[in-house]
Amino acid sequence: MIRVGVNGYGTIGKRVADAVAAQPDMELVGVAKTRPNFEADAALRRGYALYAAVPDRIDDFSNAGIDVAGTLPELLEAIDIVVDCCPSGVGADNRSLYADHDVAAVFQGGEAAGVADASFNARANFEDARGAEFVRVVSCNTTGLSRVIAPLRERYGIEKVRATLVRRGGDPGQSDRGPINDVLPDPVTVPSHHGPDVNTVIPDVTVDTLGLTVPATQMHTHSLNVTLDSAADAEAVKELLASEGRTFLIPEDAAIDGAGKLKEFARDVGRPRGDLWENCIWERSINVVGRDLYLFQNVHQEADVVPENIDAIRAICTDVPAAESTARTNQALGVGLESRFGSEAPDRETLIADD
Ligand code: NAD
Repeated sequence: MIRVGVNGYGTIGKRVADAVAAQPDMELVGVAKTRPNFEADAALRRGYALYAAVPDRIDDFSNAGIDVAGTLPELLEAIDIVVDCCPSGVGADNRSLYADHDVAAVFQGGEAAGVADASFNARANFEDARGAEFVRVVSCNTTGLSRVIAPLRERYGIEKVRATLVRRGGDPGQSDRGPINDVLPDPVTVPSHHGPDVNTVIPDVTVDTLGLTVPATQMHTHSLNVTLDSAADAEAVKELLASEGRTFLIPEDAAIDGAGKLKEFARDVGRPRGDLWENCIWERSINVVGRDLYLFQNVHQEADVVPENIDAIRAICTDVPAAESTARTNQALGVGLESRFGSEAPDRETLIADD
C-alpha cells in the first residue's frame, strides 16, 4: 500500500483525494486544509482524516466544530508521498518542508517546472518520473495537448503543432474571477507559454500556442492544426485517437455542441461532480488536408489532470509499468467514455489491470 496525503483541498485536491481513495494499491491517509470551510465539512463526510495545513490555525477548526486529526507535519510523518494541490507558487514554498520530512511529492501545473526533478504526463513520459523525489504534473491545457500530440507523433511524425487555446475565465466556484464579460488575448504575447510547457514532457516537438481567455467556466476549447511528417487520412486519425485510453470522440449523432452539453452528458452518465477526465474531441472536426490535420477538442480543467496524478504516484513509488498503471487508474476511476453510437466500440488498450 502506498500511503498518500493531499495538501491543499480545493478544486484539484478534492478530486485527487477521491481518486487516491479509489485505488486498491493506495491508502489516503489524510488531507490538509488551511481553513474550516464547506470543503472541510465535505472531507469529513467522506471519512477523510483532516489535518490543519497551517499548525497555528488548528484552533480555527475546533472553534468551528470541525474535528482535525493533527497538523500537516504530523500527516507528513505518516505518509510515503504527498500530492501538493495548493494554489500556484505555494507548492514551491512547501518543497523544503516535504524534503525535511523525507516525503516524495507530486506538484501541479501552476508551479514552475523547476520545482520538480521531472514534469509528467502519463502518455508522454511516464518513465521520466520513475523513482524521482519530486514530480510536477503538467497543467490541464498541457495535459490535453500532450495526450493528442504523443500518439500522432508516434504514428505519423510531427513537423509542427499550432494550437489556439480558448481558456475558461475561471472554475465554477471561482467567484473572485468575475463577473467577467470580455474576450482577452491571454497572454497577449505570442506564442504563449503552453508550447514550451508541452516540451517539458515531449521535448523534441515544435509546438506554437496562442491563448485566449473567455467568460466561461466549464471547459477549455483547443483548436489544433498539426502538420504531420507523413500523409494521413481522417478516418485513420479518428481510429488512432479513439483507441487512446484517455480520449472521448464526441459522436456526431450525440448532438453535443459545446461544453454545456458535454458536462450535462457527464452528469447524466453518473460522473462524480460531472467530471470529464478524457480529452473530448469532436469526431466531426477531425480532418486532414494534405499533411495538415485539424481538430477541435475540449478539456475539463478541473478533471483531466486527476488520473495523471495517480500515475505519477505509481511512477515515483513503484516499478509498475506505465501501461499497467494507466490501466489500473482507468479501471478504478472508470476513465474511458465509450460512445454507444455507431457499430463498434473503439479498440481501446487491451491491458487488464492486474491487482
Ligand atoms: P484551489 O484554489 O481551488 O485550491 C487550492 C486549495 O489550497 C484551497 O483550498 C486553498 O485554501 C488551499 N491552500 C492555500 N494555501 C495553502 C497552504 N499553504 N497549505 C495548504 N493548502 C493551502 O486551486 P486549484 O484550482 O485546485 O489549483 C491547485 C493547483 O492545481 C495549482 O497549481 C493550479 O495551477 C493547478 N491546476 C488547476 C487547475 C484548475 O483548472 N483548477 C487545472 C490543472 C491544474
